[in-house]
This record gives sequence, structure tokens and C-alpha cells, in this order.
Amino acid sequence: MDQGMTEEQEEARLGALRDLNLLDTPESEGFDRITRMASRLFDAPISAVSLTDRHRQWFKSHVGTAGREIPRERAPCAEVARAASTLVVPDLLRDARFADSVLARSGIRFYAGAPLVTRDGHALGAMCVLDKDPRVASDDQVAALQDFAAMVMAQVELEHDFGRIDPLSGLPNRNQLADDLQDLARAHPGAARVNILIDLADARQIGEMCSVLGPSCIDDLVKASSRTVKDALGAAAGLYHTGAAAYLLVLDEAQGGPWRDTMERMAESLRHPVACNGVPIAVDAVFGVSPFRLGEAEPRDAVRSAVSAAGDARAAGLDHAVYSPASDEANRRRFHLLADMREALAGPGQLRLAYQPRVDVRTGAALGAEALLRWRHPSFGDVSPAEFMPLVEQTALARPVTAWVVDTALDQIAAWRRAGIGLRVSVNVSANNLREPDFAHRLARALERRALPAEAIELEFTESALIGDGGRVLEQLGQLRSMGVEIAIDDFGTGYSTFSYLRTMPADTVKLDQSFLRPLDTDAKARQLVSSMIAMAHGLGFRVVAEGVETEAAREFLVECGCEEAQGYLFCRPVDPEALERWLAAQARPG
Ligand code: C2E
Ligand code: MG
Ligand code: MG
Repeated sequence: MDQGMTEEQEEARLGALRDLNLLDTPESEGFDRITRMASRLFDAPISAVSLTDRHRQWFKSHVGTAGREIPRERAPCAEVARAASTLVVPDLLRDARFADSVLARSGIRFYAGAPLVTRDGHALGAMCVLDKDPRVASDDQVAALQDFAAMVMAQVELEHDFGRIDPLSGLPNRNQLADDLQDLARAHPGAARVNILIDLADARQIGEMCSVLGPSCIDDLVKASSRTVKDALGAAAGLYHTGAAAYLLVLDEAQGGPWRDTMERMAESLRHPVACNGVPIAVDAVFGVSPFRLGEAEPRDAVRSAVSAAGDARAAGLDHAVYSPASDEANRRRFHLLADMREALAGPGQLRLAYQPRVDVRTGAALGAEALLRWRHPSFGDVSPAEFMPLVEQTALARPVTAWVVDTALDQIAAWRRAGIGLRVSVNVSANNLREPDFAHRLARALERRALPAEAIELEFTESALIGDGGRVLEQLGQLRSMGVEIAIDDFGTGYSTFSYLRTMPADTVKLDQSFLRPLDTDAKARQLVSSMIAMAHGLGFRVVAEGVETEAAREFLVECGCEEAQGYLFCRPVDPEALERWLAAQARPG
């Protein structure tokens, strides 16, 4: 009992404690049962399974106390752990070691504790009973307390050994997760948690790695990455090893902060390559995020949602995805759309361009046409670009999709020119396209290859393109314009631009959004707004195109306002190239 513990021994003891993954885990019925028995046997109000951490006594199980920890300093349980032997203190106030302890000051007088000793001989803490009155303990009671301590340890080691801890990562596995979620739900029913699935690699990548580097490379990946993630989290609490190359974190945002921060910390830590069989491998981790409430979903469903969110992220080429039960169906569709776009781009038959003429609002003569993307999805049927383009624009797909549209439109322009139809075609580009440093250069090459002048094409972009890195976008637009490509601001009036912003916008034309045109026939204020916007755009030197013109009355009003061009169902719907040719021919026919 006198022999002190060396620092090294104490570190080994703390290491053993940490490896068992007991600290900061939920209370569980298995341990609570033993604690209740101890309390009853001693007829004492308080009992606990108390683990000696570096600076605290932490209670895995407790009856009769409110908190789950007290300071380690002068705690009798810490003395039990240090000496690795049973300690009975009939009256704490009469023992110099504990008279000034937190327990004594809180009114506790009697203490009895038996050490919780691992198979390797590390004393992790104490199975203890406490009373508010001084008393003695019989030999039988002490022996029973030691038995309870042994039972606790048997359960600890059984749980640890028996298919609950992954030997490679040292993390609790899916079985333990299911139990812990159940225990958590019992302790905090309805409390919010966030499951974050960390998917290191998909099945295909794992297969490739194994065939190139040998199957043991996955072991290396798991060993290294689990260490990295644990370090990033600062502790392994709440982290589970749930798949060949997947971990799951059950996050309590009230304690760990917003999930986004935690996820970013983990993502950052996984950005460094991991040595697999000595070869550095870049981990391509994606995250599946699933907020849920304890007890409201089966533990298995709560985990499956995170897994499916990660799958969605991987399929869509995103670094993370959030599961939302409310919009599950919509999410599924969105992610399918993104996942299937690659295939649509790769083969013929799914994507095509429709063309809608832009006309002189006075005469109705065609001045150009806008190319609008059409997608016939193999299972969803026709999908509107208003649905899939906003998704595409958020991902790396924006580049190949726009490249496809530009190439197809330029081929069509060239074909029309050969047939004597000199129509300028407008193509919609997204903000991200303008951030591609070589966008203007590639467009110039594409025009060159087909011997087309820059005037053959116009680019439409929305005001939102200037949000964020506006400087780079402006530079790119300036470059395009100096090549001779016309620029139009699409959906004008719905964006974020201030008028002063507009002044510096390198554009030739603004396209008044169709939402302004719709109430024209009935609403005097709407008419006032449209005429003011047209006047202002003219004042800044832009040509004006009105979109969504459906009625003759709207057309006449636009003529009055001095609007130059219009586009809308009144003149022609977006149609395939052959139909547009027929429409043009009909226009040209006199009478
Ligand atoms: P947008 O560029 O403003 O295109 C005009 C939209 O208004 C088209 O819808 C067109 O069919 C529709 N429209 C034309 N005239 C009328 C009319 O008289 N009444 C009504 N109610 N609607 C009319 P669409 O083809 O569904 O395209 C929706 C949006 O999707 C486009 O709006 C554009 O932002 C985007 N989009 C379409 N194709 C592409 C593309 O190739 N690339 C990019 N980045 N975006 C595209
Ligand atoms: Mg447009
Ligand atoms: Mg528009």
C-alpha cells in the first residue's frame, strides 16, 4: 500500500482504461444492476462503479448521486486504484487523508471500495459504497463488495473481448454501437444526436487497392485512419468501427459543437495520405450525416440513414450528404439525377438541346435562339433543367455538362450556317464555369475548330455568378467579350446585384425575368415596374430582352416601353432544331 506508482505505471494504467472505451460512455443496465445490488447489500444510499481517470473519478454506473464525476484529488476511490487494494474508511472525517475531501465536505462519512482490476493487473478504479453516517463493514460485506468488483470487471472484459471491439482499430464495433444507442435512448429519451458516417473508400476502390497492394493494405488503412480520426476528435468517445473501411461517430452537438465543425476536423485529418504497405494512399473519404432523436428510430435505422447519406454523397461526387427523412424521396431522386448525369453525358439518347427563338418585339422576326438543355432520364422520364441544373451547378459536373451544351450548340450553329441559317445561339453557363480558368480559352478553341466567329454565340449567366469570387468572374467575362462573344445577364431582376454593380458588369444584354411579365396584363404596379426596369437597363447601356412573353397585350406593352427583343410561348416554345427550321421557314413566307 505504501509503494507508490511510477509515472510509467500510471500511464500504462490510464492507457488500459482508455483502451476499454468505458470513459464517457452511456450508463448501462448491466452495470447498474450490480451497483443497485451493492447498495442494497450494504443498506447504503450511494454506490458507484468509479473509474480513476487522469484528473477525475468518473462513474460508469451510480445510484444515489446526481453527478457523474468528482475530482480525483483526495478521492478514496483514487486511493483504491493507486494501491490496488480494498479500502474501508469507517469515518472520512476521522481519516487525515480524506477529512478534507470533496466527499467528506459534501456530507459523506462512510466509504468502502474494492479495486476494479483488469486481467493485466491494472486497477482502473473502485466498486464503492458510501453512507452519510459513520459505520463499520462486516467481513462478509467486504467480501461481497470484492465479488461485485470482480463481476464488474468480468463484464467489462467480456464486452471488450466478445465481438465488440475491432482488433485493428481498437474501436467498438456495430454490436457495441447498437447496445450503446439503446442505453443512450434509455438515459436521454428524445435527445438530439447526429450520426456521422465516415466512409473511407467505396467497394470498388477497396477492390482495386487489394489487387494492387495486397489485402493487408486495408488493415494498414484502418489502423492509420482510425488513429488519425481519434486524434482529430481528441478522444474516441462516440466513435465506432462499423464497416470494412467505415467509422460512425455518434455526436452530441450540445457537447461536441456543430456537426459541420466536427466533420471538417475529421475530413482535414484524413487529407494526408496514409501509408498502406509502405505506399502512401490518398484517402477519398465521404461523410454521411444523419440527425436523429434517441429512441425515436430503431438504432439500426438511425445508422442506416447515415450509411445511405454517405452512399448518396459518393454517388453524387460530393464530400458529404445530409440525410433528411422529410425529403427522403426528393433526396433520393436528386442524388439519382446527379449520379446518372455522368452516364447521360457519356452516351447518346438522353440529352439534347431545344431551341427557343428570340425575336424583334416589334416585327416578330427571329434574331437568335436560346439553347435549352433537355434530359430524358431512363426511369424518371423528362426532367426539367430547372430541377437538375441547380444540382449540377453545385458539383464538378458543371464543367462537363456545360462543355456538352457548348459543343452541341456549336455543332448545330455550324450545321445551320451550312444550310444558310445564320442564327446566333445563346447558351446558359453557370457561375462555376466562369471560375474555370481556361473557360474562355476552351471556347475560343471550340469556335476555331468549327471555323465559327465569336459572334455566333452568346453566353447567358445570372447575376449570382458575381457572388463570392466576383473579381475572377469579371476578368473571365472581360476576356470573353474582348474575343467578341456577347454576354447576357439572365433572369435579370431576381438576383442580388445592386445598381452600382450592374454598371461595371461586362454585358451587352439583360434578359428581364419572366416573373415580371406574368402579372403584366392585370397589375398596374407590375407594368410600372417593368417600364422602370427597362428604362434603367437602357440608361446603363444594355439591350433588353423580355422573357416569358405569352400574350399579345404583353408584347404591345413591351413595344411601348421600348424593349428590343422578346422570347416566349407567344412566338414559339423551345423546340428541336428541325421544328425551329420549320418555324423559321414559316416566318419567312410572306403573308
Ligand atoms: P432560362 O435560361 O431563364 O430559360 C428560360 C426558361 O423559360 C426555359 O425553361 C423556357 O422553356 C421557359 N420559357 C420560355 N418561354 C416561356 C413562356 O412564354 N412562358 C413560360 N412559363 N416559360 C417560358 P427551361 O427550358 O425549363 O429552363 C429552365 C432553366 O434551366 C433556364 O432558365 C436555365 O436557367 C436553366 N437551363 C436550361 N438549359 C441550361 C443549360 O444548358 N445550361 C445551364 N447552365 N442552365 C440551363
Ligand atoms: Mg437563359
Ligand atoms: Mg431566364
